[in-house]
Amino acid sequence: MSKTVLITGASKGIGANMAIRFAEKGYNVVMNYNNSVQSAIILQRSLKESGYSVIAYKANVRNRLEVDLMVKEALYRFGSIDILINNAGISNQSLITDLSEQDWNDIIGVNLTGVFNCTQAVLPHMINQKSGKIINISSMWGEVGASCEVAYSAAKAGVIGFTKALAKEVGPSGITVNCITPGLIETSMNQGLTVEDITSIVEDTPMGRIGSTDDVASAALFLTSDESQFITGQILGVNGGLVI
Ligand code: NAP
Repeated sequence: MSKTVLITGASKGIGANMAIRFAEKGYNVVMNYNNSVQSAIILQRSLKESGYSVIAYKANVRNRLEVDLMVKEALYRFGSIDILINNAGISNQSLITDLSEQDWNDIIGVNLTGVFNCTQAVLPHMINQKSGKIINISSMWGEVGASCEVAYSAAKAGVIGFTKALAKEVGPSGITVNCITPGLIETSMNQGLTVEDITSIVEDTPMGRIGSTDDVASAALFLTSDESQFITGQILGVNGGLVI
């Protein structure tokens, strides 16, 4: 029987690429989305037309009830969730003195509480089946901090701590928990960056380029493959050497 992956934030960017790559590997894919209905449905349709087993499901990862319903639907449709990829995220740039409580709550709510909600919803099933793989998408900014991104950096640092703690807790249940910390990846999340911003990052990056969604998806495929069974609690930088 095919394994099932639940990917949050799969309507675009890194999550959409992972949906394609996991579908191509033969997984059943549950593509979560929240606002981008059209792009999620278009991607789902094109993958289904190619013969892949995919459902798109709308749920706000901040909303526990919606997350629980999504997990229930995934289990009903596919009978199992073998891999959870906590990828949904939002960012914003602001001086801390201008950061509203609402902005703080939004960033922490999606990037960190969303990871908690989805993980807690899926874990009883994984613990019961005594196997599972969880990948959390953090950021290099969670490791080194980004100026004018206090909330985002704090949330992503929280995801790293969450990963390490959970790996210790659920390892005895046969579940691995790992984290990917991407560097600058070409997605709409970075559409506000100027050419100068990007050039400066490329100049500081040993590999001399920014990352692609494929770079991150490849790391996720490795960390969920049979080749990585003894790897848990690890933080894998996919940043071209910018943060070492
Ligand atoms: P993106 O293109 O903006 O995509 C973000 C995804 O998250 C979208 O599918 C969006 O879905 C989803 N999302 C946002 N809020 C959500 C919510 N409340 N509930 C469910 N889904 C939600 O960004 P990306 O670059 O692919 O980012 C993916 C992950 O990588 C994020 O966690 C981000 O922090 C991390 N990351 C990105 C970079 C980078 O340079 N791009 C670097 C480091 C880390 P809807 O549009 O449907 O709402």
